[in-house]
Amino acid sequence: MKKLEILPEFRLDFPYTLPVLDFEYASLEPHIDARTMEIHHTKHHQAYVDNLNKALGDDALISKPLLNLFDKTEKLAPAVRNNGGGHYNHSLFWKLLKNNKGEKPSGDLLNHIVRTFGSYDEFRDEFAKAAISRFGSGWAWLSLDEENKLFISSTPNQDNPLMSIAEKRGYPVLGLDVWEHAYYLHYQNRRADYIKAFWDVVNWAEVEKRYQTIIK
Ligand code: MN
Repeated sequence: MKKLEILPEFRLDFPYTLPVLDFEYASLEPHIDARTMEIHHTKHHQAYVDNLNKALGDDALISKPLLNLFDKTEKLAPAVRNNGGGHYNHSLFWKLLKNNKGEKPSGDLLNHIVRTFGSYDEFRDEFAKAAISRFGSGWAWLSLDEENKLFISSTPNQDNPLMSIAEKRGYPVLGLDVWEHAYYLHYQNRRADYIKAFWDVVNWAEVEKRYQTIIK
């Protein structure tokens, strides 16, 4: 992966800490409720951070930017892979959220989406399909590959497309957490409704910024 260092989250390094959100928990309502956001951030994400620090201990060899660890995921202890992925994925996810009042992508990103998937609606359908068909817990992603092609994928558990074990590797532009802890309080078993609501809380300005950074 040639472009890791340009990703803003490349600076994530040991000892890891819970990022402060730049929005209120309640600000994503009614699409994602405040209680879910609070538990997701202060309990689930905090646990990934704590367990990652614990799993790495004082090992100076392994204490390097988190994204470098993903280059040899197969060699990582399960606790490092799972909690390292968990910390990365959530740190990214929070940045991608905003109550967008019906906003859609625009400019180069929209053009690229239309060129790749046919239309914005077809892109949404394909992304939703990846999210709904992920059995158990995991994530759905829109990423750019090394040839700057957009693709949709899903990964199990706390894996992500940056990891060397990913079926298809790429740089995530957009991600959606489909673990039950992300939606169960409000949506119970209705993952499809949560995925539908996700389109109202995508921070497209942030997604476009990532897209422009990665595609250079
Ligand atoms: Mn989560």
